[in-house]
Amino acid sequence: MKTVIANWKMNVGVRESVALARGTLLTLRGRKIIPDLVICPPFVALGEVRKVIARSSVELGAQNTFWEATGSHTGETSTRMLQELGVTHVILGHSERRQQVGETDEMIQKKVLHVLSERFVPILCIGETKEERTAEQAREVIQRQLSVALQGVRFRGGDKLFVAYEPIWAIGTGESATVGEVVEMHRFIRSMLIQMFPDAPEGQISILYGGSVDGENAYGFLREIEVDGVLVGGASVKLNQFKDIVGAAAEVLEAQQT
Ligand code: PEP
Repeated sequence: MKTVIANWKMNVGVRESVALARGTLLTLRGRKIIPDLVICPPFVALGEVRKVIARSSVELGAQNTFWEATGSHTGETSTRMLQELGVTHVILGHSERRQQVGETDEMIQKKVLHVLSERFVPILCIGETKEERTAEQAREVIQRQLSVALQGVRFRGGDKLFVAYEPIWAIGTGESATVGEVVEMHRFIRSMLIQMFPDAPEGQISILYGGSVDGENAYGFLREIEVDGVLVGGASVKLNQFKDIVGAAAEVLEAQQT
């Protein structure tokens, strides 16, 4: 399977989210084979977007959550609240949160453990900066982020995990990583995950690429066996682009069936 995750970030309000959700459903119309699709609107739009996608296969994701179910945590949003809104997936450790609000690997680990215990699917984002890549430290950074964030994780039957490799220099810059760079890093991440979770059944952990994915380059990533899907930011709020990304995933799936 291939998965496409749309991260609408803080780019749309409630009304725009509803329109975008309707448009996103239209991108699936008429297709026999469709990728798994998760859309992650801003918190305030989750309730309205849920109504739009209610009778579709599209799933709802949040862009963050806190590591406690309730309590005195002003301004935070809990998994219990997200459950009420029909959210099934949660983006954790996005580089914008790491860089802009100082989220650490340790905070992200607490969130990963908490969301798994509450039966959500974590979408764990990891990625190196340009400086780290230039200094040939990319693998080291990925290794640290993965091993801290997933420390103590014990999967139960039915649990799923997405790891999104998102090199920071490729996010929102229009400069995506090359397919070769992505495949190489995904192989490294997969080998680490196999070491950490040797008993994980096929399909429990998926590795996605994110970073300036658009309608033109999506097929090149998605056709790679090492790439289980894509996490899309900027292009997910541009319906003509997003339609082509969904189309690229569908094309790859169709080719796999023949
Ligand atoms: C993201 O925000 O996760 C992302 C990949 O953004 P963009 O597609 O805009 O690079």
